[in-house]
Amino acid sequence: MEEQPDAGLLAGLDAITSYGVVAIDSSGRVRRWNAGAAKLTGFPRDQAMNSLLAELIAEGPEEFTPAFLKELSAGESELGLWIRRADGTRFWGRTTAVVSASLDGRPPGYVLLFRDATSLKETTEELERSRTMFERILSIASDAVISIDESQRIIFFNQGAERIFGYTRDEVLGRELSVLIPEGSRSAHMDRVREFGQSPVTARVMGERGEIRGRRKTGEIFPAEASISKLDLGGEKIFTAVLRDVTERRMAEEALSRQAAELARSNADLERFAYVASHDLQEPLRMVASYTQLLARRYRGRLDDDADEFIGFAVDGVNRMQALINDLLSYSRVDRRGGEFRRTPLTKTLREVLATLGPALDEAGATITNDPLPVVTGDRTQLSQLFQNLIQNAVKFRRPGVHPRIHIGVEDLGDMWQLSVRDNGIGIAEEFLERIFIIFQRLHNRADYPGTGIGLAICKKIVERHGGRIWVESVVDEGSTFYFTLPKDADAE
Ligand code: ADP
Repeated sequence: MEEQPDAGLLAGLDAITSYGVVAIDSSGRVRRWNAGAAKLTGFPRDQAMNSLLAELIAEGPEEFTPAFLKELSAGESELGLWIRRADGTRFWGRTTAVVSASLDGRPPGYVLLFRDATSLKETTEELERSRTMFERILSIASDAVISIDESQRIIFFNQGAERIFGYTRDEVLGRELSVLIPEGSRSAHMDRVREFGQSPVTARVMGERGEIRGRRKTGEIFPAEASISKLDLGGEKIFTAVLRDVTERRMAEEALSRQAAELARSNADLERFAYVASHDLQEPLRMVASYTQLLARRYRGRLDDDADEFIGFAVDGVNRMQALINDLLSYSRVDRRGGEFRRTPLTKTLREVLATLGPALDEAGATITNDPLPVVTGDRTQLSQLFQNLIQNAVKFRRPGVHPRIHIGVEDLGDMWQLSVRDNGIGIAEEFLERIFIIFQRLHNRADYPGTGIGLAICKKIVERHGGRIWVESVVDEGSTFYFTLPKDADAE
């Protein structure tokens, strides 16, 4: 005997609003349409009854036909699919179906259950999107990103890590982190991770207590920079380290410091040579000078004209040689005999220099102006010499018939002062702007402008000894501005 459907049960199903409960006959026509189905789809019962279900709510072809439901009812799980509403919109219906026996010998129909799972679908999709994004970002990163669980087993290993360590993901997932660490540092490292796990901070740079080193699959050990962070995922701690292979940078740094040391050594050699040569040459040169001068005094006019001329050349040459040797000596003394660094008010230094140069400035008709200058820490004598050389040049290289106007300016660069000496002189052609700071490099012959070409080389050395740099900007026939920087005095102001 067939079981009669329970009237109470049916009424209950009809009243449910959160689930659509729909019965169709074997031809696919709606025979039952509960309140939930009406609410979810927007089709009232009157309209739905006797309609073909597939025509009513299906979005895709073949969906919600008897064949489709037959297949669905054969499986056990719910199926997600779009269901069309009366107003043309749709929702993601989690749907299941069962075969309903026919009571009257006709082919069986189906009972269909569905609910709106759109927001669940959206959340899942969003989750999937952010997971994909996260994975893509991590795979692009050139750094290694490695996560471990509390027992220090590897649970995440990005492409950067594969590249750096030479292991594939599959080779290391589930293994202990120690495979990536040189044997000697393993236990210390493990202790540190454990200690970090207990500390209240959530992220820290690694390597503050000694360099971080990694171990590649090949066994090769490499220097690294790394930071670690921890995450509490529902009571379970996950540690993630971001690590960068700094082998190449280290090698470059080492090469650079080797070169710097080599350069410093050869510089020192050169300076010692310049000093010794100029110092030791002075003595015999003095002798040559005094005897040529003696010759000149005693024998001028007593031999023939040629002899007078030759003696003149010799005296000239000796004088020049003495000047050059003195210059070389002062140049090599900038570093060798540099004085102590003291607080130096540059306005006062400038005033003293201008007093010394007074007669020369007056003679040239020079006007000198200046900004209020800062106090710096430096070698007072050398800073005076710096100003003196630059101002002397500004006067010396004036345009014929134009009174020199010279301004000493200053600009605040934050941690440095930028000082400048500007003139309205003959200017310097672009191609010589760097050369003029080289020792004995001049652009003019001695007849036009006297000098040996040491002044700016000494200026450069002085500025560099003080931790600054010097350069010039210039326009031919308009003037030049020499700039130099000096570190700010920490406690001046
Ligand atoms: P010197 O003054 O003995 O020639 P420096 O080293 O002081 O040596 O200067 C090198 C060269 O730079 C000078 O010969 C000159 O050509 C150029 N120079 C320096 N200062 C100026 C300036 N203020 N205006 C134009 N040219 C300059």
